[in-house]
Amino acid sequence: MSNDEPTSTNRTLSGLSLTFLPPAESDEIASVSTHPSLAEPGRPVDARVVIVGSGPAGLTAAIYSARANLAPIVIGGLSGGGQLMITGEVKNYPGFPDGVGGPELMGLFRQQAERFGARIVDSDVDRVDLGSRPFRLWAAGVEYRAEAVIVATGAEALWLGIESETRLRGRGVSACATCDGFFFRGKEVAVVGGGDSALEEALFLTRFASKVHLIHRRDAFRGSKIMQSRVTSHPGIELHLNRTVEEILGGEHVEGVRLGRTNAAGGETLRLDGVFVAIGHRPNVAVFRDWLETDQRGYLQVQGATTASNVDGVFVAGDVDDHRYRQAVTAAGEGCRAAIDVERWLEAQEEYAGRTTAATSRSGSRQRAAR
Ligand code: NAP
Repeated sequence: MSNDEPTSTNRTLSGLSLTFLPPAESDEIASVSTHPSLAEPGRPVDARVVIVGSGPAGLTAAIYSARANLAPIVIGGLSGGGQLMITGEVKNYPGFPDGVGGPELMGLFRQQAERFGARIVDSDVDRVDLGSRPFRLWAAGVEYRAEAVIVATGAEALWLGIESETRLRGRGVSACATCDGFFFRGKEVAVVGGGDSALEEALFLTRFASKVHLIHRRDAFRGSKIMQSRVTSHPGIELHLNRTVEEILGGEHVEGVRLGRTNAAGGETLRLDGVFVAIGHRPNVAVFRDWLETDQRGYLQVQGATTASNVDGVFVAGDVDDHRYRQAVTAAGEGCRAAIDVERWLEAQEEYAGRTTAATSRSGSRQRAAR
C-alpha cells in the first residue's frame, strides 16, 4: 500500500501498534516520532532502517520510510547530496517549470526528509557487515545496527582528469547530455568517448546543436554496430578519431578544445561552446562489494522487479544499480520503491515472528497440559 493513501490503518511493527493517518495528521505524528537518538560515545546506534547515500534515491527512501514511522537514519556521505550537488541548473525535474539549482533541489529533499523525522549523518560508511541481522555499518567511528538497509550510493561519472575540465564544469563542461543538451541550441559542442554513451549523447545532441564533434582516442568505437552506423552517417556529427582532449579552452565558459593526436605528432584546436564527457560511470559499491552481487559492469543487482538485493533485508536504489536511465527522477522513483519494499519486508518479518511466537506458546501449552 502507498503511504500517500489518505486512509487510516493500524499495523504492528516490532511490537508497536502504529496508526497510519491521513497526511495532515501523520505530519503531527512524525514530529513526535521516536526516532533513535544518535550514539552515546562508544555505543552502537540501533535503527529499523539505515539508508546509505543522500542523493535523490536515498532521500526519497528517507521521506517514504520516515512517513511509515520507520525512523530511518541516513548515512549520507561527507559530500552528501549526490551528483546534483555539482549540477548547476536542473530543468527537467518535474514540479519546477522554471528549473531549480541542483544543490537547492537536494536541500529541499533533505528538508522534507528531516521534517518527517529522518536523521541524516554527514559521514562516509567505511565498513559493513551484512552477514547476519541486525546488519552492522561503521561510519566515522560509530557503529550502526539496522534491521534493514537501503543502499543508494549512486554512481560517479568518469572524467578526463585535466585541470581545465574541473574549472569549467557547469560552465559548458557536462557529463549528462540529457540534462544539459537543451542549453546548446544552435551551438557547436563536442562529445568525448567511443562507447554507447558517447554515441548516444552525440546523436541526442544533434537535436539542439548546430554541429557535434565526436572525439575518440582510437580509430574503432566500443559502442554497438547499429549506433556506430547511425553516428557515422549523421550529417550533423563530425568524427575526430585518434584524438585526445589536451585542454578545454575558455575563461568563464567553454570556448574550444585543444586536441592532440594519439597516432602522430601535432593536433588542432576546435572552436565550440560545450564539452560532454561520456567516458563511462563508476558505481559506488566499494564497501558493499564483499556482500552484494554486481553485474559484469560492476553495478549492484536487484532481484526481479523489486529493489531487493541478494541479501535478505538489504535493498538497493538509484544509479548504483541503474546504468541505463541515470536520472534524478528515476533515482527518486527507485528510492520510493525501496522504502515500500523495506516496509513490507519488515512487516513480513514481524508477522513471521508473531506466528512463530504463537506456535511456540501453543506447543508449550500442549506440553504443559500433557504433563
Ligand atoms: P564504456 O563502454 O566503458 O566506454 C567508455 C569509452 O570512453 C570508451 O570508448 C573508452 O575508450 C573511452 N574512454 C575511457 N576513458 C577515457 C579517457 N580517460 N580518455 C578518453 N576516452 C576514454 O562506457 P559507456 O559508453 O558509458 O557504456 C557503459 C555500458 O553501458 C556499456 O556496456 C554500454 O554498452 C552500456 N550503454 C548502453 C546504452 C544503450 O544500450 N542504449 C547506452 C549507454 C550505455 P576505449 O574504447 O579506447 O577504451
